[in-house]
Amino acid sequence: MKALTYISHGRFEMTEKPKPVITDPKDAIVRVTLSSICASDLHILHGSVPKARPGITVGHEMVGIVEAVGSAVRRIRPGDRVAVNVETFCGECYFCKRGWVNNCQDPDGGWALGCRIDGGQAEYVRVPHADNGLTPIPDSVSDSQALFTGDILATGYWAAKISEIQPDNTVLIIGAGPTGLCTLQCVGLYGPEHIVVCESDETRRRFVATRYPGVTVTSPEECRETVDRLTDGRGADRVIEAAGADTTFEAAWQCARANAIVTVVALYNSPRMLPLPDMYGKNLTFKTGGVDACDCGEIMRLIAQGRIDTTALITHSFPLSRIKEAYTLFERKDDNVIKIAVYPD
Ligand SMILES: [Zn+2]
Ligand SMILES: [Zn+2]
Repeated sequence: MKALTYISHGRFEMTEKPKPVITDPKDAIVRVTLSSICASDLHILHGSVPKARPGITVGHEMVGIVEAVGSAVRRIRPGDRVAVNVETFCGECYFCKRGWVNNCQDPDGGWALGCRIDGGQAEYVRVPHADNGLTPIPDSVSDSQALFTGDILATGYWAAKISEIQPDNTVLIIGAGPTGLCTLQCVGLYGPEHIVVCESDETRRRFVATRYPGVTVTSPEECRETVDRLTDGRGADRVIEAAGADTTFEAAWQCARANAIVTVVALYNSPRMLPLPDMYGKNLTFKTGGVDACDCGEIMRLIAQGRIDTTALITHSFPLSRIKEAYTLFERKDDNVIKIAVYPD
């Protein structure tokens, strides 16, 4: 089968690999019907994910149809349409029991697919811990609607959840890229008083303003002023930093009010400064890190109810055989791309 393979720093190539087989009773084999390219794939390409193993098939955001399951799989059956979770986890270790599945202690726990083991920018993928790594898709939900469930939507849902949003809050989301846009929809579920989205790209600002009329859209230059105007100068009650650009971490804590929660979901390419003397007395709470993707069942229910809809994020489609062109477009952000769907040839 065709599989996009991480060869070495700076190099992904389409290679021919054997179709995966079940190697553990908890595995499932999934025929990929739609996949996507994530910014984390670019981080692997450029060598900023040390855990990524050369030789693996990349791709960790996909949906498909279950072809086979191991003897210990209970919740999933062959023929099921499923969304694949970026994180496969055991459900039984110290961290899993507390919902911190990103830090699952199993060898295939956390972000393994498309990083440490073969992922889904391929015709088939083997999914370990299939009962926890796959979410059934109801008949009423299309592949396009379900595509982001396991990765960027899971991230947006988690970011909103850990931010402890209250009804009287002003929530500032920095970045209207794919993750920021998923975060925006999930923050909306909590119904805060104001949602402000800060984005440097004018086309993306227009996208938000058009699709989400209740949301206040601002540029980085005007962000602080916009937030201050909505909060009597106090600053944002909650800030979610989903941009990961050079100045956005600084903007995140500067726009936060005293005693705010600042949630950092962005992945940076280099260290960031935490200037504690400047922050002294602001009494901020920072929450950081990689998604605990264990709420995908709930996310799928919200999609089925029409309360989350990310189909507008899919701006481009490519067949798997032309995925390298798709990577070039995605990396250069050409043609106002947000997300790309990759379908089988
Ligand atoms: Zn991703
Ligand atoms: Zn675990």
